[in-house]
Amino acid sequence: MARAIKPRVGMYENVKNQFEKAAEVMGLDESVKKILSITNNEIVVHFPVKMDDGSVKVFTGYRVQHNNALGPYKGGLRYHPTVDIDAARALATWMTWKTSLAGLPYGGGKGGIQIDPKQYSQAELERITRRFTYALGDNIGPEHDIPAPDVNTNAQMMAWIADTYMSTKSPSERSKNQHVVTGKPVGSGGLEGRDRATGFGVVVTLEAWAKLNGTTLEGKKYIVQGFGNVGYWAAHFMHKNGAILIGVQDATGTLYNPEGIDPEGLLRYQTENNTIMGYKNMEEYDSDKFFGIDCDIIIPAALGNQITEDNAATVKAKVVAEGANGPVDTDGEVILLEKGVDIIPDILCNSGGVIGSYFEWLQNRNGEIWSMDDVIVKLRKKLEDAFNGVINTSVQYKTDLRTAAYIRALSRIEMAYKQRGIFP
Ligand code: NAD
Repeated sequence: MARAIKPRVGMYENVKNQFEKAAEVMGLDESVKKILSITNNEIVVHFPVKMDDGSVKVFTGYRVQHNNALGPYKGGLRYHPTVDIDAARALATWMTWKTSLAGLPYGGGKGGIQIDPKQYSQAELERITRRFTYALGDNIGPEHDIPAPDVNTNAQMMAWIADTYMSTKSPSERSKNQHVVTGKPVGSGGLEGRDRATGFGVVVTLEAWAKLNGTTLEGKKYIVQGFGNVGYWAAHFMHKNGAILIGVQDATGTLYNPEGIDPEGLLRYQTENNTIMGYKNMEEYDSDKFFGIDCDIIIPAALGNQITEDNAATVKAKVVAEGANGPVDTDGEVILLEKGVDIIPDILCNSGGVIGSYFEWLQNRNGEIWSMDDVIVKLRKKLEDAFNGVINTSVQYKTDLRTAAYIRALSRIEMAYKQRGIFP
């Protein structure tokens, strides 16, 4: 049975709660706080697309640009029924914190279209993506706002975005605009390893967490929510560390097997069947009890607001590694922290994706081609540095990891505003 999407608490409310807590603990400058409390620009576009049957449908697309004090807006495009202005604001704001925490020369943006892509043919998705890109026009740009993949968008769609955007430029300018989008296929300017960067990063932060706690990931039992780009690659690298996958949930249902589930076999099955359900005749598990499965590690890698006051008390794991953006809401977090569960916050845990995107952007901008080995080594170093920085700040301020991550991210932006002043 497909899993119902719960009525959502506003995700933007969660971001604001997290921001205000950190601003208070660090004593963030009041003027900077006012600036960061609101988004810079919110672009809503309505655009017509011809369907395969000849009819015309009008779609609504969003691009929210939260802040660009440190550099161009950066962040993904999501195609999902839950995309609305609230979600785009929240996700754009998280991107500002994430890029700052990672030490990148970027700000934060996010957007998407409120659609269920499964309802459309590949040809329709191509026309929707191209027309959305055209409607956004120069609201995106390689030195201004750089989209990337997110839920239900992929490398192919990024190639269509690059091609459409480049086609709107004069012939001599076209090739200078390839880095308008990241997460492209390798044959079209994409980066070797960008596909696995987010999931790999999730596991690097878990390795660092295990080391900090005097252990390793070997033999640890874990569950993953979402078996898409982030969920699958996280499972792939957890498997390499000898960890045991015992539960998987996606939009089509929930699997549980205490003996272990092979991520590679499950990926093959999912690719053929478009669902994880039915894999090796495993029984469906009660979706509402998923986060209560007895395990060491939870990797939520699907949507926001998944661990809430409704289910946080059932969590038995020692750590939640936020592969998704905003999977633990404010109430859920209070309960987890009281229980002594560590949360590796999204802006740190899943930042491998935007770091990989930064490498791709640099590669295109400088006319270079990076090898997979280079990418993996550089990614690991950036993530380990970020993780250690967050731990040091949490000790210094005697605060939780999310608040510590926010303090580091906000300090960098605060410094930029203090040095440059506010025009006029
Ligand atoms: P994806 O589209 O590849 O996969 C999404 C997965 O979530 C699918 O397995 C889908 O079945 C599952 N899902 C959807 N609705 C669900 C529901 N109601 N219950 C359970 N599972 C559900 O998307 P992705 O790129 O892997 O992104 C997953 C999360 O990671 C998102 O929160 C995204 O913002 C975040 N993220 C992605 C990247 C990236 O590089 N792709 C980077 C950072 C953060």
